[in-house]
Amino acid sequence: MKRILSILLIFILFIFVSGALCEDKIVALTFDDGPNPSFLVKALPFFQEENIKVTFFVIGSRAKEYPQWIKRAYDEGHEIENHSWSHICLARPSQKSFCPEISLERALSEINRTRELIEELTGYRTRFLRPPYLAMTEKRKREIEENIDIKVLVDSNLIDSLDWAYKDPLRIKEKVIREVKNRPGNAYVILFHEKKTTMLALPDIVKYFKEKNYKFVRIDEFVKHNSKV
Ligand SMILES: [Zn+2]
Repeated sequence: MKRILSILLIFILFIFVSGALCEDKIVALTFDDGPNPSFLVKALPFFQEENIKVTFFVIGSRAKEYPQWIKRAYDEGHEIENHSWSHICLARPSQKSFCPEISLERALSEINRTRELIEELTGYRTRFLRPPYLAMTEKRKREIEENIDIKVLVDSNLIDSLDWAYKDPLRIKEKVIREVKNRPGNAYVILFHEKKTTMLALPDIVKYFKEKNYKFVRIDEFVKHNSKV
């Protein structure tokens, strides 16, 4: 009996330990609408100091204006991905949407133009598209992915920091932490913008995840752990 009990105990312990080891606590910090030099001049040294890599979903026309910032962010190990050329809606999600209807050709050219520029600047071919305003339909997503070798990210589980709306960095931090606590799981993608208030909120947000032993990953790594993005 004693023997059975100890075997059982070892078995339970094994399940527990292996479960704990498999449990990846990961967080991907992502930044839309850049490059914005006044944000990056502070953010890049901060990421370097904290030894974390992030993902920038950049607007092609801005990348054209600030190519040196694309190169620098890429050279420092961050991921540069696609957020269209001119930040227009790539689809009209519903009749109520403020988005106008655009042709597939126009949508594809918005993505391709951005992709070509980033490839020219860094040699990296963008693998992911985050649609502006997250405006997308199932049909348009399929059409884009059939025509371009890119994955359209429309994750309903994305945590929106609402940094575009909040003027107080404390509210950005509180919003992110509240969402993390309210959602099940251990893998989060957080949406930020390249804004001054965001920069002020970042140190506390990074500290929070570090204290909870999260690993900071880029989107390319995040998708390996978690197919739902
Ligand atoms: Zn955007």
